[in-house]
Amino acid sequence: MVMNKGQLEVIAGCMFSGKTEELIRRLERVRIARGAILLFKPTIDDRYSTTAVMTHYGREFAAHLLAPGEETMETLEQAVGAAAMEEAAVVAFDEGNFFSALLPDLCEALVERGKRVIVAGLDLTFAGEPFGPMPTLLALADRVDKLEAVCVKCGAPATRSQRLVDGRPARADGPVIQVGGLGSYEARCRTCHERERLRARPNKASRLRTRSRRPARRLAATTCG
Ligand code: ZN
Repeated sequence: MVMNKGQLEVIAGCMFSGKTEELIRRLERVRIARGAILLFKPTIDDRYSTTAVMTHYGREFAAHLLAPGEETMETLEQAVGAAAMEEAAVVAFDEGNFFSALLPDLCEALVERGKRVIVAGLDLTFAGEPFGPMPTLLALADRVDKLEAVCVKCGAPATRSQRLVDGRPARADGPVIQVGGLGSYEARCRTCHERERLRARPNKASRLRTRSRRPARRLAATTCG
């Protein structure tokens, strides 16, 4: 029997929970063991640098850019070369939430080729809804680590990302992706996460309309970049 040592690991959590720190910690261990690493991040994330994944604390790791919607084996091989793909022991994706619904299939294909695949990303949007391909990746993963931050309001473990505009909680129906935009973010617990009270109190009919519109809106927001 041929042993396939490939596996899928997902590091999920809210903002400021240390996901990228944990990803880089794992990659550094692979580098010490002289394993070849390929790290990809979505082109949408231009917060700090276009060629490196940098944590909030300034540690960095060289990364290749990959456009959401182009997560295929062919694209990866074009980006880094077939030899580098073959050699890689670990293939990692940071900001996995910004990638498209193609990412889970690509991860599965990489695992089948014997790769250790690590995806780090937000599991929830600022409005508290499952984010992009992350729910599928969490279900497929061999190992899941859901990290917590600290709630800035009450000090409890935080699992939610609060978007603020001009220091006030942002509307829950704003665009899902707002990288480097108007808003700022802070980590909050489920209790302190402000979401429902911002919505106008809809009557039952409009609440149903909102609910049925939600998937289409999320799709539009994750593809508009
Ligand atoms: Zn709290």
